Amino acid sequence: MRILAFSHYLDLAGELISAGMSLGEVSLLLTSDQRDRLADVRGAKRALICDSISSDEQAPLLDLLTELAKDYDLLMLSSDKRGRELTGQVAQRLDRAVAIEVSSLSLDGGRLIVERMTLGGKAVAVEELPLPAVVSIQKGRFKPAGGPIQEVVEVKLGRASGYDVIERRAKPRLGIPLDKADVVIAVGRGFKRREDLRLAYELAEALNGVVGCTRPLAADLKWMPEESWIGISGVRVAPKLLLVIGASGQQQFSAGIMDSKIIVAVNNDPQAPIFENSDYGIVRDLYEFLPALVRRLRELRR
Ligand SMILES: Cc1cc2nc3c(=O)[nH]c(=O)nc-3n(C[C@H](O)[C@H](O)[C@H](O)COP(=O)(O)OP(=O)(O)OC[C@H]3O[C@@H](n4cnc5c(N)ncnc54)[C@H](O)[C@@H]3O)c2cc1C
Repeated sequence: MRILAFSHYLDLAGELISAGMSLGEVSLLLTSDQRDRLADVRGAKRALICDSISSDEQAPLLDLLTELAKDYDLLMLSSDKRGRELTGQVAQRLDRAVAIEVSSLSLDGGRLIVERMTLGGKAVAVEELPLPAVVSIQKGRFKPAGGPIQEVVEVKLGRASGYDVIERRAKPRLGIPLDKADVVIAVGRGFKRREDLRLAYELAEALNGVVGCTRPLAADLKWMPEESWIGISGVRVAPKLLLVIGASGQQQFSAGIMDSKIIVAVNNDPQAPIFENSDYGIVRDLYEFLPALVRRLRELRR
């Protein structure tokens, strides 16, 4: 079985290769900005290097992956936001079977059997996909393994899309990535105005933490950058301490916090579902509780 793998993030590419190695021969696509790290990649039989496209160029990258995927039984991408988007787009263009957030793969008589979380992370679905197929692999499920790349091939493809990059602007970074932070403050719609988020940032500063949010704050209200949203369709966090403030704790959010060591929830509704998944629950108005907590933490620091 021929497998093509690609991720915007090379550490995740290692996980994809490891997921594919038990099924067949894996080729990894590297874009111009990734080629310098070729030596870091383990386990793939072959590296396909495309020097004319960088991983930021979403439209040409989609064209390239669509073209290359035609020669493979399985295209594997990572389950970060851009990886999931590409998964759906390539599958749609090539009319192929698709599954996202896959946590295990095996072959059964020429069909691909995948497992993935469903019902907001409460259950695991086992699905059978006809090949060829496109899947995105859940982060953290497979450990990178294997020896160095055996073969390097230059891919020369024209710009089928006709897009040209006229300017590049660096995306603002959040500091410590959410999924690596020891302390995370997750905020939800309990915050009534954007400027009130200042309370959460003050708490983050006092605890040396990072602020994340529920999906509505990033996707609908646009109060926070997209990479801040936690949950099944966002980032999965695993801090030593997670404070969930003014978030109801719906399944789709809670699926992204379950690996946290200690969860403290602050919510003024004693029936809020978040309390079911918390180690400590504080039934208070966040507008009273947060300033008092920050004040106390600052006093303790002096
Ligand atoms: C396919 C799909 C995928 C999704 N993926 C995600 C995802 O990855 N991540 C995600 O977060 N959501 C996701 N969602 C949305 C999810 O279902 C919820 O709608 C969302 O998590 C709710 O956000 P919230 O908790 O901020 O808002 P709400 O549910 O409105 O909760 C606000 C909470 O704040 C409390 N509150 C209000 N005022 C105060 C106050 N003054 N003090 C203290 N507490 C207060 C309320 O009691 C309430 O519990 C997804 C939905 C779908 C359909």
